[in-house]
Amino acid sequence: MSDHKYLVIPGPVEVRREILDAQTAWMIGHRSKEFADLFARLQPKLKQAFMTQYRVYLNGCSGTGFWEGASRNCIRDDKKALHLVGGAFSERWAEISTANGKQVDVIEVAWGEAHTPEMVADALKKERYDAVCVVHNETSTGVTNPIKAIGEVVRQYEETLYLVDTVSGFLGTELCSDEWGVDIALTSSQKAFGLPPGIAFASVSDRVLDRAKEIPYRGYYFDFLSLEESLVKNNTPSTPPISLMFAADVQLDAILAEGIENRWSRHAQLREMTHQWAFSRGFGLFAQEGYRSNTVTAIDNREKKMDVDGMAKFMAQKGFDMDKGYGSIKGKTFRIAHMADMTPDVLETIFAGIDEFIGA
Ligand SMILES: *Cc1c(COP(=O)(O)O)cnc(C)c1O
Repeated sequence: MSDHKYLVIPGPVEVRREILDAQTAWMIGHRSKEFADLFARLQPKLKQAFMTQYRVYLNGCSGTGFWEGASRNCIRDDKKALHLVGGAFSERWAEISTANGKQVDVIEVAWGEAHTPEMVADALKKERYDAVCVVHNETSTGVTNPIKAIGEVVRQYEETLYLVDTVSGFLGTELCSDEWGVDIALTSSQKAFGLPPGIAFASVSDRVLDRAKEIPYRGYYFDFLSLEESLVKNNTPSTPPISLMFAADVQLDAILAEGIENRWSRHAQLREMTHQWAFSRGFGLFAQEGYRSNTVTAIDNREKKMDVDGMAKFMAQKGFDMDKGYGSIKGKTFRIAHMADMTPDVLETIFAGIDEFIGA
């Protein structure tokens, strides 16, 4: 750990040496047989990870790219999308739909609160929507939304697609795409997936492709019909981030060897450890009880008023890069990211470091 700063920030996260090394393999042409083999090898592993029978697109971009793709391919120009907003990331996705000329309604909850299926049921009774867009794990506040329960509501409406951002939740907390009626689940590489930044993934149902066919201007880089045309040939329309695909190949093997359910449990354990530590040191938790994230904890610092900048500086000397809170809740909260390949041992070392700073 001494040759670099260990990232405890919620993205990019610490990437294991083995994964970094996988990126240094010799380059291959993306129209070669080796590439088609690599692509074909990734598909079943990605489908397993997203728990889908359909397909998983990948593109050289961050998660934001697939936000744009999801909005453009799923929302018809004369229809509307319903965005569930309760933090920085859900807010930005709604902005992206608007920036693409889509009509957007929003159900807004206070930062730190979750959305409920009842809220969505009420909205869907009043108006028809082409899509319901929700963030699985709101990284700014440490809230996990009840994706399964909201999905049960959305699935009652034939024309409504269910779009889920699982950038910081992916494989750290339960998400069964097909079973829960999710039409798109999208993620970046650099958060819960535990890869370097630069590649994004989206599981996409057949219903989405049917919708895309009704939308004349889907853009180019994230046109799902074009991605599909290539995917069936184990390829991509333009040059993909091949090194990151090598890394994803190794990381997916490690994830499947750990076991998806074991991975969820490890994260649940990290969450419990973080809660216990926070409470026993006089901190609160920012997220509403019952919806607290498995992968990132926003610690409420409003009572205790620890010097967050001072803590981060102290921890930097110990080799840890700490978060200081996001946007309007910076300092009032700080976040401990316990996603991707974080282990209980490392987390304990981090707590011991903060304890030293606060004199606990
Ligand atoms: C970080 C994040 C994003 C944006 O992802 P990029 O890869 O930075 O584009 C979207 N949603 C959530 C929940 C995030 O945490």
